Amino acid sequence: MVFDAHMHVGDFGPMFGVSLHRDGLLELMESCGLESVVVFHPDNACAREIVESTPGVYGLVWSNPRLSGYVEEAREYLAHPRFLGVKLHPLLDGYHPNDPAVHPIMRELAERNAPVLVHSGHPIFSLPWSIEELAAAFPEVPVIMGHMGHGNIVYINAAIDVAVRRPNVYLETSGMPMHSKIREAVERVGPYKVLYGSDAPFHHPEVEMLKVKLSGLPDELVRRVLGANARRLFFGDDAGGRSVR
Ligand SMILES: [Zn+2]
Repeated sequence: MVFDAHMHVGDFGPMFGVSLHRDGLLELMESCGLESVVVFHPDNACAREIVESTPGVYGLVWSNPRLSGYVEEAREYLAHPRFLGVKLHPLLDGYHPNDPAVHPIMRELAERNAPVLVHSGHPIFSLPWSIEELAAAFPEVPVIMGHMGHGNIVYINAAIDVAVRRPNVYLETSGMPMHSKIREAVERVGPYKVLYGSDAPFHHPEVEMLKVKLSGLPDELVRRVLGANARRLFFGDDAGGRSVR
């Protein structure tokens, strides 16, 4: 059972030259064996359309604290049974993760025991230490550090350190180039806190899966990272991973 915790839907213009819509998503899910996926888009209506029309697809509400009314919008989406939490992209939307403007949405998540996925790995707005400030301010909210520090070894190591220090910080593997750091992360933060994500369509789900499979982790833990941990976090069960203590 593979659960992809990080997918974008929509068009990503001339800079990236990629897009992912409903048909392409279905094709990817089938060809890569993705049983469940989580998608998002800055225009939440765009994500909702796909979520509602595609089995196995769940959403995260894209929240931008720079927009007025963002908490009200998020409340509406969080009432939807297939929207499981919030996505924050401090780099793209231009704010500090622990800006007081972010706190109202964290309070909403705390009330619902729902997680937030935060982009990490780029200065100045998405460094592991500043995401840690947010996680420390809301210890009851699961904070998933998307990309677990991304492409820079200093940030990757810092992301793992933060997840060791903070019980509520989880790591998501997409876009992080070192397969061996996935094993190190699981060994240091424990078997439940590292989740597979692809960041499709920027990265191919198969390529991202291969990193987990080649990480050097035993099969039971590979299964946990690829799917059971996301099920545990998003749905409170961990189908497929019960053989691991
Ligand atoms: Zn992403």
